[in-house]
Amino acid sequence: MPSYLQEKHQINPEIIQTVEASEKNLASIFLELNHTKEENQYKVIHAMQKHRLSDQHFNWTTGYGYNDLGREKTEAIYATVFDAEDALVRPNIVNGTHALCLCLSSLLNPGDTMLSITGAPYDTLHQLIGLVGNHEQSLKNLGIHYEQMELTPAGKIDQEILSDKINSLKPKLIYLQRSTGYSFRTALTIGDMEGVIHFIKKQLPHAVIMVDNCYGEFLETREPTSIGADIMAGSLIKNPGGGIALTGGYIVGKASLIEMAAQRLTAPGIGKECGLTFGTTRLVLQGLFLAPTVVCEALKGAILAADVFQKCGYPVKPEPEAPRSDIIQAIRLDCPKKLMAFCKGIQEAAPVDSFVTPMPWNMPGYEDQVIMAAGAFIQGSSIELSADGPMRPPYHVYFQGGLTYAHAKLGIMKALQHLKELV
Ligand SMILES: *Cc1c(COP(=O)(O)O)cnc(C)c1O
Repeated sequence: MPSYLQEKHQINPEIIQTVEASEKNLASIFLELNHTKEENQYKVIHAMQKHRLSDQHFNWTTGYGYNDLGREKTEAIYATVFDAEDALVRPNIVNGTHALCLCLSSLLNPGDTMLSITGAPYDTLHQLIGLVGNHEQSLKNLGIHYEQMELTPAGKIDQEILSDKINSLKPKLIYLQRSTGYSFRTALTIGDMEGVIHFIKKQLPHAVIMVDNCYGEFLETREPTSIGADIMAGSLIKNPGGGIALTGGYIVGKASLIEMAAQRLTAPGIGKECGLTFGTTRLVLQGLFLAPTVVCEALKGAILAADVFQKCGYPVKPEPEAPRSDIIQAIRLDCPKKLMAFCKGIQEAAPVDSFVTPMPWNMPGYEDQVIMAAGAFIQGSSIELSADGPMRPPYHVYFQGGLTYAHAKLGIMKALQHLKELV
């Protein structure tokens, strides 16, 4: 039987053996993931049926975009899927950072305090908050105070410290990031967040609880807005776009808060009423339909990577058998050459641009140089197989995505082979 892995992709037989031994070990874990995938698939179908989605909604309007039926349908479906009152799902929300920025800048006023309780937010938000740079439009320059508290060494939120912070700062907005970002911690699970959100609601009922949900969608059967988060945001070229959405971001949450974000996106008095979809509606919804399956494939890839690289002696986060609430797999490589070799392997496994070699570059929004392997159908889409990491010790690589498990598996083999060739 011809083996494409061996003959066409030039994977050494020992590497195939190593990876497939891990795969066999993980069979029972993989089987369990089907439950979440199926629940989420039924949730999405239910939302589409409930809102009577029909092919007329795939048309689009021009000019102001009043009464774009597809846009309204998409937002109603998103609200239902995420157990929220309302949603803003737009192609002119340019990425996840923009979606998060719309929430923060519309909800915070001069004199207000934002408290991040999961350590520093994701790198691309640092300039917005005013942690670095000196942008006129940063929250800091607009007179908004920012405070953060670190997670415990176990990656949890210490309720005593939280209680002190809440009492002393009386924050207007409390911010949680579900996923790891460029850190070496596990994602906050819905269970972790549920206790904390409940606690905050009791102590400071009027605070807005906001969650950065990037990379977390469909990892569990409930989302942060199902358990009390007031507003949350994410990117359509990550999990909820299913690899199909061309661009866009989403915000879901309380109707009054969504209205504020919508007025910031367009203008006060215009809000959600205007804005074209440019024919993207079908792809956004088809992507949402596929997302539970795609997320499950990516998750299997992440767990396989954890097992393979841990067995090869690299520290990994999360551990292969740990509960997961995002699709990120962090692997500590401790060496810039290894980080580059890993990314070269992922790139070589790609269906698009497999022939290029990723190099570190100064990516907008990031403080250190970043190396990024991505051979994606949608530029920058990280629900497609990708690997990246900032060029700083201890040289963590963040492995994520994979529209199909087999593709992720090929990436793992290629990355491992390049690492082995270094030594
Ligand atoms: C990707 C990401 C963002 C920013 O999203 P972009 O779409 O790249 O702007 C924010 N937070 C987290 C945790 C992310 O993973």
